[in-house]
Amino acid sequence: MSSPTVIEKFSGTIANCYDSHVHWQATGTFRRHLQLHDLFGAPMQIEQQLQNIWKTHQASNQNSSAHDREWITGFGWDQHRFQTAGTDGDALFTHESLDRVFGARPVFFIRIDGHAAWVNRAALEQAGLWQKRPVGPTGGEIQLKPDGYPNGILLDHAMQIVERLLPARTPAQIRDDLLFGQKIFHAAGFTHIRDLSGDEAQWHVTTELEKNGELALAVEQFFGVEDPNLFDRQLDLAVRLNREWDSADCGGRRGDRHALVRPRGIKIFLDGALGSEGALLSCEYCTRAGHRGLQLLDKPTLRDFIVRTWRNELPVAVHAIGDAAADILAETAGEIESGGLKGELHIEHAELLQRETIARLAKLHHVECFLQPCHYLSDRKWLREKLGPFAGRAFRYRELEDAGIPIWFGSDSPIEEPSVLSTLQAIDLAQRDDDIPPPRHHGTHYQSHPDVAWVPNTHTLFHNGRIESTTFSGRHL
Ligand SMILES: [Zn+2]
Repeated sequence: MSSPTVIEKFSGTIANCYDSHVHWQATGTFRRHLQLHDLFGAPMQIEQQLQNIWKTHQASNQNSSAHDREWITGFGWDQHRFQTAGTDGDALFTHESLDRVFGARPVFFIRIDGHAAWVNRAALEQAGLWQKRPVGPTGGEIQLKPDGYPNGILLDHAMQIVERLLPARTPAQIRDDLLFGQKIFHAAGFTHIRDLSGDEAQWHVTTELEKNGELALAVEQFFGVEDPNLFDRQLDLAVRLNREWDSADCGGRRGDRHALVRPRGIKIFLDGALGSEGALLSCEYCTRAGHRGLQLLDKPTLRDFIVRTWRNELPVAVHAIGDAAADILAETAGEIESGGLKGELHIEHAELLQRETIARLAKLHHVECFLQPCHYLSDRKWLREKLGPFAGRAFRYRELEDAGIPIWFGSDSPIEEPSVLSTLQAIDLAQRDDDIPPPRHHGTHYQSHPDVAWVPNTHTLFHNGRIESTTFSGRHL
């Protein structure tokens, strides 16, 4: 009989069970997309699988009277499961498979990491990208076929050219998504979340949910800047909401530190993700000669965004996965601080870190890192293949702590399923298989919200790797 795994052995109580990096609304929207996680094999097989997924979807959504021009969205594909090149080295993974299955309906399929899209020709045409060698935006890439036309794969900022064309969610849909997302967090035992992608529409719906007593989650709300052109608008919103929050004469509700939704700062993106080879590295990807990833903001813009957020005394959360992104960030923040302005810097993911970068970060006034150990469970399959010896700089929990930098754990839901147990499993496996030193404390320590007074009587009870009960403000969920 095999001995119990670290998950099966886990029993205990977590107070204010906290997922420190989520996309709340997307966690709920997720179910509306075609689920593409299981696609695998050669193009013919993938087309057959897509046909089946599409048929099943149509059969279960008969009332949704989709007409021929409506967008089809999907989520979860991973090219590491595909046969991407033929025996002669020709790329097999293009818009053509989607054209054959979906015809003239525009298709927008998001990669499992959220940082690449696979689209068909109809979508490229609508976006004005169906031409020879279209010019991509800074911090984005439009991949091309040998004939110079796009192959249907768009990275980071290039995704947004198509994404912008999708219809905006209505308040009723946002409400559905947030409530469904809440259900998913509850099922995984979470009562506290830190959401990185809020906007004005979501904020309105969330405060409505709170007023109606439908909210049973404590939410730290950041405002996401996926498109740098939206920075001003999101900063104004964050500033205004924080002011209302702090002011005594706003009816007491928002200023009440026990209220369930707390407006926080701004979230910006400095690079892409490792799986789609957009994370910014200090070396080339072993799998793609001459390519080091994408820098989504140039240094002056990064500097400007941090300065303006800090001048408003708000925290700035920066997506930085690759070691070069983290280093540019550490350097920029250091330069700003040496000019006399200080603020709170949150690094999201920080998956690859050089020793020198950690030393630089340690000198900053206030820095915290928000890591997702569970990414190890997905990324371990190709970390060495993509990064070679650089893979040894992944998941540096212990080094960050030894440098005095606080760390927190989360899931990046819906990129990974929110789960304390996955965190524990990932830390254990990373130590056993890749000699990655575990963090100082038990993994659950980093998934308990530090403000113990925020929603008293809130805890999650685990027994032998199962959730026994989740209690929110004294009420069983
Ligand atoms: Zn994220």
